[in-house]
Amino acid sequence: AQHILLQSRPEGMPTADNFALTQVTLPELQQGQFLVKNLWMSVDPYMRGRMIDRESYIAPFALGEVLEGGAIGEVIASKHADFPVGSKVSSMNGWRTHYVTDGSDHTILPTTPLCESHFLGVLGMPGMTAWTGLNRIAELKAGETLFVSAASGAVGSVACQLGLLMGAKVIASVGSDEKAASLKAMGVEQVINYKTTTDLSAALRTAAPQGIDVYFENVGGDHLVAALDNMNEFGRIAVCGMIADYNDTTPSPGPSNIGNIIVKKLKIQGFIVMDHWEHYPEFTQQMSQWLANGQVKAEQTIYEGIEQAPAAFIGLFEGKNRGKMVVKLA
Ligand code: NDP
Repeated sequence: AQHILLQSRPEGMPTADNFALTQVTLPELQQGQFLVKNLWMSVDPYMRGRMIDRESYIAPFALGEVLEGGAIGEVIASKHADFPVGSKVSSMNGWRTHYVTDGSDHTILPTTPLCESHFLGVLGMPGMTAWTGLNRIAELKAGETLFVSAASGAVGSVACQLGLLMGAKVIASVGSDEKAASLKAMGVEQVINYKTTTDLSAALRTAAPQGIDVYFENVGGDHLVAALDNMNEFGRIAVCGMIADYNDTTPSPGPSNIGNIIVKKLKIQGFIVMDHWEHYPEFTQQMSQWLANGQVKAEQTIYEGIEQAPAAFIGLFEGKNRGKMVVKLA
């Protein structure tokens, strides 16, 4: 089997030499174990946080050890009654082609007409994040204006589409004209390319002269400043991520216009999707229907081969993906 280890902790933007691809000999299957061949693995921005040795809501990756992350695999040999050969399983055992397990923290995937990789994206953690942020954190209502940053990514593209389904007017920000065109084709009214915009706050005012009621925050930095400038009274900000800061070597200063929180009487709430997992069945039931009748479109960017996994991960910070970034392993 091939495994990718954390070779060194990144400083600033991760580079290829932070990762090492190694050949591993797997142990013989014991009673109660099974062998999985991974088909797909996920790369996600939160993994950057786990590469730093610090206390957080999830333990850091250990140096010299195989990395972890969402994966979808197929059972190819089994001495475990609950996981027969041919089962498709989801696990946190990404960054490896094959592994032996006793099945703890493994779930057998339900059958769906969709490619299983969507359980890493629209039907998995990122889709659930968008749903949670809008429904349970920001409590978006019909007729409101929603602003989404990193809007063409795994979480953002679902947040935009759910916003539209919930009857909101959606304004988005992305890093390329091609991404903007794809969101407009989905019905997003105004899309800002922040890379070609000199004054994000002014661009947001032009895109949403009526102001923003809900900001789905994925980016931080100048995006948060622009949102604070343009929030309406009693607006809500669901703080999902701040990807613009993840590779900072020194902490970036807070927003200069933070006083807007008082004047505009804003509610700002961060959240971690795993705390809301009890609602996952409700989410999947709704999302499966939206996907089946075409109300939500699931985009993915696919890199092929385990050796491409570091590039796919680094690509998240360079805007290389549209929709969910996944790596096809087999
Ligand atoms: P994406 O699929 O959105 O990939 C990252 C995207 O972010 C890139 O494609 C890029 O798009 C954009 N980006 C990268 N760097 C910058 C930057 N410096 N400034 C602005 N945009 C940037 O990732 P996810 O959908 O998986 O995650 C989105 C956010 O949600 C992240 O902040 C992540 O940490 C957070 N998250 C939080 C969770 C929670 O429980 N709180 C759960 C899951 C995700 P572009 O071309 O537009 O720049």
